[in-house]
Order: sequence, then structure tokens, then C-alpha cells
Amino acid sequence: MSTLPRLVEGLAALDFHLSSAQLATFETYRQELLRWNQHTNLTAIIDPVEIEVRHFLDSLTILQALRDTNYHNEMRIIDVGTGAGFPGIPLKVVLNNARLVLLEATEKKAAFLSHVIEVLGLGNTTVLHGRAEKLAHDPAHREAYDVVVSRAVAPLTTLAEFCLPFTSVGGRFIAPKKGDVGTETAAAHYAIDLLGGGNLQLIEVRLPQLTDGRTLVSVTKLATSPGRYPRRDGMPAKRPLEA
Ligand code: SAH
Repeated sequence: MSTLPRLVEGLAALDFHLSSAQLATFETYRQELLRWNQHTNLTAIIDPVEIEVRHFLDSLTILQALRDTNYHNEMRIIDVGTGAGFPGIPLKVVLNNARLVLLEATEKKAAFLSHVIEVLGLGNTTVLHGRAEKLAHDPAHREAYDVVVSRAVAPLTTLAEFCLPFTSVGGRFIAPKKGDVGTETAAAHYAIDLLGGGNLQLIEVRLPQLTDGRTLVSVTKLATSPGRYPRRDGMPAKRPLEA
């Protein structure tokens, strides 16, 4: 019997089945998160079951938006503002072949990430301590990712400015959202368009474990983002791009 029954059941509903090695990886991740959280403020979610559902399973709902992609490809994924590794690390555990970059502005969180990827033995995973506003202008990272994910970092308009410059043309930016996603996407249309995004899709999360109105926002990168975006540190949040 697994110690992560909700994760196993929820993933089965998405037609994913974890090996015992993958389950052991999630168990170790949870232990390390709880252990570090005693001295470092990584997450407000400290109940083991909540970590299982609201961190692990919720992160993996993104798989719903990746159904039409080839999981076996070495897809390049960046998680912008990953915090303690969500959604990036759970995705990497399931999508073994992915190449993952975890971007995080807070040094102590980046330190945890470096520690945990080593303990979990995650290959092809890099931690970057820095801000999206700056890193997205680095030629090594600009428009260099097939999939850009970001959870609980900013409203969609700000997030589009952080994430679309990282997205390769033809790639996708995917953000899990809760609540009134209609208002948020309406406000973000101008920014998405300006940054070369389009084909906005809203994918409803339907899992018995997560019934509080969760939606995945998926945007496809159709054209190159203008070089001046993202603007300097703080501006995408302070003055969101509006018509
Ligand atoms: N994605 C995680 C953490 C959410 S909290 C989760 O869903 O659990 C938001 C995180 O984004 C914080 O850790 C913060 O340091 C980071 N962050 C906020 N703005 C950022 C920026 N511009 N660049 C990089 N990281 C940022």
C-alpha cells in the first residue's frame, strides 16, 4: 500500500501510473520539504496530506494540458517562480526525459531546490536563482523552452510578461489558476497578443481530489516576443501591460 494513495488515485484518473521508484521519490520529497520547512519558510502547506494533494497532485494536473505532446521527448521545461519546486519537480519526476530549469528569486528557496534535486537524484535539472525579468533577456534562456509553467506567482497579465519571452515559438505557456479565470484571461488578452502568444485555451481540472474550481490556462507561442519585454524588475507587476 502506497503512502500516497490520493496521488496514485488522482494520477490514475489522468491515466498515469507511477512506478514504486517514482512513488519513493515523492515520499522523500515530502519528507525533505517538511524537514526544511521547520527552519526555512518554504511553504504554508505543512500537513502531509495537503502536500500530497495541493502540491503534488495539483502540480501534475498540468499533464492534462500536455496530452497531445510526446511525453518521451526531451522537452525543455522552465518553472518560473517555482518556490519549493511546484509544479516543476513533480512534472520532472513523472516526465523522466524532460530537461527542467527551476527559476526562483529567493535565495533560501533556491538552496532548498539544489539540495532536494540532489537527494532525489533528478538528472537534467538546473536551479537558477534570479528573477524572470532579468533571466528572460539572457540569450541562453530566451525563447528556449517548449513548455513554460508558473503557479501562484502573479495574475495572468504579469505572468504572460514573465513567461512568454521564455517560450519558444510553437511552444506553450501553461498556468494553473483558481477562481474567476474568465476575468483574469480577459484582462490578459492584450499582453498575450503583444508578447506573441495566442490560441488561449482554458482546460478545466476534473479530479475528485481537487474540486474547488481549478483551470489550466494554456497559451501557444505564435510569434517572437518584442525584445523590450519583460521590462525591468518589478514593472510587470507594478504596471501590468494593458491596452
Ligand atoms: N510556484 C510555487 C511558489 C509560489 S510562491 C507554488 O506554486 O507553490 C511565488 C514564488 O515566486 C516565490 O517563491 C517568489 O520568490 C517567486 N517569484 C516571484 N516573482 C518572481 C520573479 N519575478 N522571478 C522569479 N521568481 C519570482
